[in-house]
Amino acid sequence: MIQSLSAENSLSYLDENYKRVTSEIEEAAIRAGRSPEEIRLMAVTKTVDPLRINRMISLGADLIGENKVQELLSKLEFLDKENAEMHIIGHLQSNKVRKVISTVSMIQSVDSVSLAKEISRQAVMNELTMDCLLEVNIGGEDSKSGISPDDLFELSSEITELPGIRLRGLMCIPPVCDSEGAVRKYFEQTRRLFEDMRSKLYNKEEITVLSMGMSSDFVPAVLEGSTLVRVGSALFGERQY
Ligand SMILES: *Cc1c(COP(=O)(O)O)cnc(C)c1O
Repeated sequence: MIQSLSAENSLSYLDENYKRVTSEIEEAAIRAGRSPEEIRLMAVTKTVDPLRINRMISLGADLIGENKVQELLSKLEFLDKENAEMHIIGHLQSNKVRKVISTVSMIQSVDSVSLAKEISRQAVMNELTMDCLLEVNIGGEDSKSGISPDDLFELSSEITELPGIRLRGLMCIPPVCDSEGAVRKYFEQTRRLFEDMRSKLYNKEEITVLSMGMSSDFVPAVLEGSTLVRVGSALFGERQY
């Protein structure tokens, strides 16, 4: 009993972090003249154990993001899946799609037509529709996956034709910037691409998700129109690999 009480107490920093992050999102939304309900908080759980993840879920975090299929699957049986949705946010190899197709509600990191085709194939086989975001390499960095802004329209048109896939919007990870102004430019560019995509694709009512902003930059991301922020270390503390 004493032990479980102290284990509980040792997780109370998560409560503080959750409160702080949600109120910062709210303040940023209000500053931008937006309704705080327009912005969804994802708790990014790479390297975080199920005990801490479940504590975060109990506080109200109803969306979990994992980068790696293997890591997600190894935690899955311990997670409070009743109360949280899960998304894949990291580079996904086509041969791993079948392992997550019935577990996650969205794949945010679609970066090629061949990956989209495999998602489509597996979704159809499993008689479901998978929500997807296209990952845009907004800074044109060689080190990052994601599609080039120049290819966005062609690829998104092609992907919306596939059965079993519902294209919902864009995700980006901007380059590391040394000022808030610099990172805001990338978020602004991504929002423009998002709006452009909405105006050109026939399924525009479905294009509603703009996933941008992490621990260090979710405030400028919200100011620039993000509808989903992906926050790891500001919620769980520094990652220990
Ligand atoms: C790790 C990760 C995050 C969260 O990063 P923090 O800086 O810890 O908030 C968000 N998005 C993606 C794609 C990630 O890999």
